[in-house]
Amino acid sequence: MTHGTEEPQINHVITSCQDISEQVTRNSTNFHFVFLRLQALMKVVPVLIKNFHFISFILLIGCSVSKDPLRREIKLLQKGKIKEDTSYVYWLPYKEGTTHRVVQGYYSSYSHKNRAALDFKMRPGTPVHAARDGIVIRVVEENNKGGWNKKFRQFANLIVIQHGDNSRTGYWHLQKNGALVNVGDTVKKGQLIGLSGKTGYTAFPHLHFIAWKSGGGGWRPIGTRFLTNKGTKYLRPLRRYKSEH
Ligand SMILES: [Zn+2]
Repeated sequence: MTHGTEEPQINHVITSCQDISEQVTRNSTNFHFVFLRLQALMKVVPVLIKNFHFISFILLIGCSVSKDPLRREIKLLQKGKIKEDTSYVYWLPYKEGTTHRVVQGYYSSYSHKNRAALDFKMRPGTPVHAARDGIVIRVVEENNKGGWNKKFRQFANLIVIQHGDNSRTGYWHLQKNGALVNVGDTVKKGQLIGLSGKTGYTAFPHLHFIAWKSGGGGWRPIGTRFLTNKGTKYLRPLRRYKSEH
């Protein structure tokens, strides 16, 4: 009888030992798994921190938040829903035959919240060409600082050109001494006018292109259509456009 009562106890001890051993194996497997996850996380975190601006830029790129009525008009023009369009046709502000991506479009919440402006991704030193005939009215090119902080806004190198119909175009973030024209110069559409860079309020090298029209007691940013290798278009974010004219 006693034998009968002892046997289950021994079995129980054996089962318990197996339990412990399995538990230890499971725990060490779990620990190893957690360790691998942590190791992977440690690799990812610095990459996320390093690319914070670019990631937040991608997340915000599609969010247009401006209440400017022009925003809706530009959207319809971009989609080709407004057919009747007699507006001026600009050339893309870079060398014919080259292609650049629009990394930020009109009224994007990243940094074009209330601006009908375009950002073209470009390596520093890329030739910038006039989008339209005009007279150079403003040049800044002595700066050598740039970064993702409003304090850098004052350090942007730039060119502003006045056009015949009382409109202007601006080319921002040029590299130091990157203006190849002077105030008072007459420039022709397609003429080489500067070299792109990363000066001023910007997280990465690009060309910020903006056009304004005078009216209502001030200068108002306007959407512009461009001649591309695929016809005349209002440019859209994240698409690449080849200059051809
Ligand atoms: Zn911009």
